[in-house]
Amino acid sequence: MNHKKMKTRAKINLTLDVLGKRKDNYHEVEMIMQSIDLFDEMEFISKKKGITIYCQHCEVPIDESNIVYRAAKLLKDEYKIDKGIDIFIHKNIPVAAGLAGGSSNGAGTLQALNELWQLDLPLTKLMELGKRVGADIPFCLLGGTALAQGIGEKLQSLPPLPSNWLVLVKPPISISTAWVYKNLKINRHTQHPDTARAIQGIKEQNIDKAIPYFYNILEDVTIPAYPEIKAIKKRLEELGAKGVLMSGSGPTVFGFCRDEKEAQSICRTLKKEYNEVFIAKTYDEEVEA
Ligand code: ATP
Repeated sequence: MNHKKMKTRAKINLTLDVLGKRKDNYHEVEMIMQSIDLFDEMEFISKKKGITIYCQHCEVPIDESNIVYRAAKLLKDEYKIDKGIDIFIHKNIPVAAGLAGGSSNGAGTLQALNELWQLDLPLTKLMELGKRVGADIPFCLLGGTALAQGIGEKLQSLPPLPSNWLVLVKPPISISTAWVYKNLKINRHTQHPDTARAIQGIKEQNIDKAIPYFYNILEDVTIPAYPEIKAIKKRLEELGAKGVLMSGSGPTVFGFCRDEKEAQSICRTLKKEYNEVFIAKTYDEEVEA
């Protein structure tokens, strides 16, 4: 086989908590991550030498800084592969949006090259390698619904949420993840998500029971600096969405809808107000298979 196509899916954070700062300056996090069926399309074609990235999106670098390049290079060096690869990325996931689009591409690269280069590495090994490229890559490899701890690399799968419809809005701003973490001040007044109760609701397959406990601590930093995030949250709530939250370090905001009809209707309304509005379902490979 010398050719492979794949879809790489975005994620949202149903909860995001920061428990403290570690000695190595990384933050200790606790978050419930969820794959969604908003995806990029990737194509891998074997060649004799070198790694070449092709991408039409102006904000995505095609040089050695691309997450995909770094993932391919790591695998090539680690297993002394003397073949090359052309990698085409077609972006649908908004870039720098808090949806782990780049990490999903990195995860897809590890999976595709594992097959094309016949490495036969188990998922645990791919996750260990992925962690060296980006903290969200292990989750993107695992997919579904999971609790992430440590710097995001310690993962525990949770039962899949029944398929839920979401509306996502990305405001036209870019927020640096490093800036958000640097400006996060945690004290005894800080509100934290109730992760244990959210997990309980998920385990009972009861989204209505879980939703009240969904919370993203990073909104404490982003909302005062970018009032448009709060304005989008308010609009989604006015239109009937539930569990409305910013994903990751932002700026994308999502909300849960009752069904596809409600998601379509909220999406139509918000498209008149914002350029980047999407609908997507929560995604779990096992449920979809
Ligand atoms: P996270 O939720 O993991 O913080 P994100 O959704 O905020 O990620 P990405 O879309 O992954 O952010 O992009 C972050 C930055 O990484 C972008 O500014 C982009 O220039 C760079 N980048 C490198 N490789 C890629 C890639 N394959 N796809 C998208 N962005 C990439």
